[in-house]
Amino acid sequence: MYSDESSSDELEAIRTERLDVDLEMAQMHAEADAWHAVRERGYCNHGSAVGYINPPVHEVQKLLKPGQLICTAGCSTIFHGDEDWYAQLDDPMANPVPLPARTPAPAGK
Ligand SMILES: [Zn+2]
Repeated sequence: MYSDESSSDELEAIRTERLDVDLEMAQMHAEADAWHAVRERGYCNHGSAVGYINPPVHEVQKLLKPGQLICTAGCSTIFHGDEDWYAQLDDPMANPVPLPARTPAPAGK
């Protein structure tokens, strides 16, 4: 029989991996909190967007040129393309866009 040193190393490796995952999750949560907090500070985090489509499905898509996207999370910023949107989605405060004053949703919707 061989010593079981290697298996305890493996166990250690698994534990370290789990710890890494926990840290990653904690980091992701912290980032998600910060990302959500952007809205609480009155800025849009561009959490959703729709792309150009012809014929348009949504009213806002009529404003778009091929390749563009428009923010549907509140600010209606037009993005030049996926990369532009992803960049601003990643770091909304790099180019903060104030959310328009909240208006009540139309009745019946
Ligand atoms: Zn937005």
